[in-house]
Amino acid sequence: MDIEKTKAYYAQINYNDLCQCDDCKNYVKEIKSSYPFIDEYLAKLGIDITKPFETAPIDFDRETIMYTMAQYVVMGTSNGFENTKINDVDIHITDSHPMTNITEPHFVIEICPIYLKKVIGERK
Ligand SMILES: [Zn+2]
Repeated sequence: MDIEKTKAYYAQINYNDLCQCDDCKNYVKEIKSSYPFIDEYLAKLGIDITKPFETAPIDFDRETIMYTMAQYVVMGTSNGFENTKINDVDIHITDSHPMTNITEPHFVIEICPIYLKKVIGERK
């Protein structure tokens, strides 16, 4: 893992570069305050929790969106990274993700599942 490169990667991501659908905007808005322990853990790796690479949202109920996973890019090799679980959230390396188009060594982790209050978009 290259924490400094990971920090630099997240620093250059603009919020406008992220998916602009309601569910992703909802994630960006709510994730940090709803999962402070996960935020703390990811921040130690250099990851900005508000800038996911990919999410998989589904409507859980009228008030809640369940993200079956949210994925994050980590720069460097996966040496030193261990899959873990914090509270009820699994954090693990995944090979099943969209193309990152990053040429330097990196890997992708996902956190799952995530439940967030629906604050953006229509309640269906
Ligand atoms: Zn989206």
